[in-house]
Amino acid sequence: MTPFDFVLAHARILDGCGNPWYWGDLAIQDGRIAQVAPPGTLLGRQTLDIAGRYLSPGFIDIHTHSDLSILVNRPAESAVRQGATTHLIGNCGMSPAPLDERHLAEMRQSWGRISDQPEVTWEWRTFNDYLRTLESGGLGINIASLAGHGALRLAVLGLDERPPSAAELDRLKSLLSEAMEAGAFGLSTGLVYPPGCFASTDEIIALGRVVSRYHGLYASHIRGERETILEAVAEAIRIGREAGVPVQISHNAPKFGAPHDARANLRLVDEARLAGQDVTVDNDVHTDLAPSLTSGLPQPLQDLPDSEIIALLQDPLSRRQVRQEIVLDRRPAFGPSGLLKHTQWDRITILHAPEDPQVIGKTIAALSREQNQDPFDVYFDLIVRNGHAVDAIFDYIDEANIRLLLQHPAVMICSDGEVLAPYGFLNDPPPYSPCSYGEFPGVLERYVRDQPVLTLPEAIRKMTSFPAQRLGLLDRGLLRPGAWADLVVFDLERLHDRATNLYPHAYPFENYPHRYPQGIDYVFVNGVLVVDGENHTGALPGWVLRREEPPDDKSSVYSHAG
Ligand SMILES: [Zn+2]
Repeated sequence: MTPFDFVLAHARILDGCGNPWYWGDLAIQDGRIAQVAPPGTLLGRQTLDIAGRYLSPGFIDIHTHSDLSILVNRPAESAVRQGATTHLIGNCGMSPAPLDERHLAEMRQSWGRISDQPEVTWEWRTFNDYLRTLESGGLGINIASLAGHGALRLAVLGLDERPPSAAELDRLKSLLSEAMEAGAFGLSTGLVYPPGCFASTDEIIALGRVVSRYHGLYASHIRGERETILEAVAEAIRIGREAGVPVQISHNAPKFGAPHDARANLRLVDEARLAGQDVTVDNDVHTDLAPSLTSGLPQPLQDLPDSEIIALLQDPLSRRQVRQEIVLDRRPAFGPSGLLKHTQWDRITILHAPEDPQVIGKTIAALSREQNQDPFDVYFDLIVRNGHAVDAIFDYIDEANIRLLLQHPAVMICSDGEVLAPYGFLNDPPPYSPCSYGEFPGVLERYVRDQPVLTLPEAIRKMTSFPAQRLGLLDRGLLRPGAWADLVVFDLERLHDRATNLYPHAYPFENYPHRYPQGIDYVFVNGVLVVDGENHTGALPGWVLRREEPPDDKSSVYSHAG
């Protein structure tokens, strides 16, 4: 009997389907799972006895923003060390391609400081150029990508707040076709962010029809996740129905200010599914987010350079107008902005403020009392002194909603994070992004092992075969012979997420800066060992995944069959 390349022996196998574990050995040959058999029966040139730990498919993180950080950290440290073996990027309307020379400055501005890193060359123009850039230097995980509607719009209309002309709409469609042909898995929108928020429903339906021709996916950060969440979910469903595309509603937890709990938005999803429409949801399990304070400004101001924002907020009249726009929220803004609108200043804790180190760890409510100043003025003054560089933790999601979402069968688990590492640029200053380090282990630790929110097989299904199915990755996300050997070995007893923060926030923040989780013992990507205990092996076996043409769609494939 010829030994296999590698055998993982004596595993509790969780196959990804949602079935209970069973004892077995798993053999890897040429990057794929070659065989699954009773324990102690398979022979490998190398064998790892995992002694009863769990073996599951690698986690497929269907909502991430690693588009540029994966270029800065190709080993994908924070992702692979939490067991993620595939990231879907290009979410929330944001992708770094396609890119038009005339709007390069706005594109760079929209991605912030990482734009200036040497690895982020901005030399690509087409979507395919960008995928090739990803491929050129090796990757620690697999990367699949959506085409961002914001990027398409930026390339054609810049940050203009207007509908496209007929010719411009044609250009948007042809850039999207080009991205789909390069292997994008679909289109994403970010309808609270500039420039996505300037688009009408009809514009998105028109683009959705292009996606439909390629059997792609429509993923949306919907147009409001608070007061207007139900209208926004309904809009996403309508886009899917009229364009003929499956819909993925991104990170669909209601944010502070929403009139109902998550059952209301999930009911709309259930109704659409009952009516025969393919609508699914993803969500992460963190109640907070730490964006720049400038992301709470009305959309047309958010991407202005520091100097322009500062000049505007120094003028008392325009400061008053900006404040009014925030409170009126006529064009629904980013979720955390609800805390400004509803004056929840005690839920906003300053994380970084290079010009005001003494305010770090304090809430805007506390600063307002200390300085005897209106909290809006405290907020604006921090931006005036620090520009885009002032970040705060916004505590804006109710954990009860996270549990409701976790338990719904059509909701999968994502991080909404990005590849990070506790060294170099990606840790300077350390970002508050617990999801980027501990999403999947955190779910298994807190919502499976410690509290009975999800069963283990169901949690694993929501991290593996379900997102794989959503992306049409039929040879990943399952432990079956023939599937690619993206694998995680974990010890549920020892599992510990070291990137948590207990609320209410207290300074210094617990587990910050973040560390890698404990108990994710081995991770394989395409059959290659990438995480070996506490160590990253340095291997870069990840691939850029491209959407595969269904056999009935393209004449080239069809003619092979014929
Ligand atoms: Zn989003």
